[in-house]
Amino acid sequence: MSRASLSVVSDSVTVRVPAKVNLHLGVGPLRDDGFHDLVTVFQALSLCDDIRLSPANELRVTTRGEGAGDVPADASNLAARAVNEVARRADRAARVAIDIDKRIPVAGGMAGGSADAAGALVGAAALWGLDIDRDDLTEMAAALGSDVPFALHGGTALGTGRGERLMPILARGEFHWVLAIARSGLSTPAVYGELDRLRESRPDSDITTPRPDELMAALTSGDPRVVAPLLHNDLQPAALSLQPALRRTLRAGVDAGALNGIVSGSGPTCAFLCADETSAVNVAAELSGVGVARAVRTASGPVPGARVLHD
Ligand code: ATP
Repeated sequence: MSRASLSVVSDSVTVRVPAKVNLHLGVGPLRDDGFHDLVTVFQALSLCDDIRLSPANELRVTTRGEGAGDVPADASNLAARAVNEVARRADRAARVAIDIDKRIPVAGGMAGGSADAAGALVGAAALWGLDIDRDDLTEMAAALGSDVPFALHGGTALGTGRGERLMPILARGEFHWVLAIARSGLSTPAVYGELDRLRESRPDSDITTPRPDELMAALTSGDPRVVAPLLHNDLQPAALSLQPALRRTLRAGVDAGALNGIVSGSGPTCAFLCADETSAVNVAAELSGVGVARAVRTASGPVPGARVLHD
C-alpha cells in the first residue's frame, strides 16, 4: 500500500481485507490497564471481507453475507468508527455509505471486525483522495483496535505489545489452511477472562512469553510439515473450557489428514494446517461430512493486507 494507491478520488471505492490466523499466541499476565502483553505470529489468509465506500447523505452501514445479522449497523460498527476517524482528521463530514460483504466469521477469532476497520481506513482515504502516509495510517489503526494494524499490513508478522507493534517475518511459499467455523461465536473478553480464571486456579503455571524463534525459522523453510508441530495458542485451553465441543472439531481435522489444528485466536474457529492444496480440499470435504462445524472453508496464506480493488 503506497501513498499513490490511496490517492484515488472516485464515486466509490472497494477495499479487500484479509482474516488472520495466529500461528503462535503467547499471552502474558494481566496488566493494570486490563490488557495482556502478547507475543504473536499472525498470518493473513485469503478469506477476505470486501468493504465498499460511496458518497451518501449521511454515514450508514449495511452488511451482507457471513453472520451479517450479528454485525452492528450503527456508529459502533468498527468500519464506521474508522470512517469517522478519517473524517475527523481530514476535518470533513463522514457522509459515506459503507457496504460490507462478509466472509470472515463474526466473533470467530479471525479479527473480522478489525479487518473491516482497516478496510474502511484505506477506503475513506482513497474515496476522499487523502495523502495519509503509512505510519499515520498504522497509528490510526492501532487506536481503533489491537488487530487493526495487522489487517492493514497483511503477510506474516510478529506482533508484540497488545499485538499492534508489528515486525514482518519472512515466510517462504504458500500455506494451505482449512477453517472450521463454529455454530456460535465466542466473545474475546470472555475468553481472556477465562484464561485469567484458569491461571488463578493454577498459580504455578508458566506465563512467560518467549519469542517463537523456532517457529519463525520454520516459516522461512516454507515447509508446512516443519511449521505444523510448532503452532501454539495460549488462549486455546480457555476457548476449549468455554466451548468443549471444539476438542472434537480439532480431533476431526487431524483425523481427516491435517498436519495440525489450532483454535484461531480467541476462537471458536479452528484452523488446520495442511500439507498442500489437494490435502486441504480433502480435509475440508471430510470435515464437512462429520458435522462438527457450521461451515468449512479452505484458505491460503500469506496474502497482502487491505488493498483497493481496481475494476
Ligand atoms: P478478534 O479475533 O479480533 O478478537 P473476532 O474475530 O473474534 O475478533 P469480530 O468478528 O471482530 O470478532 O467481532 C467481535 C464483535 O465486534 C462482534 O460481535 C460485533 O458485535 C462487533 N463488531 C463491530 N463491528 C464489526 C464488524 N464490522 N464486523 C464484525 N463485527 C463487528
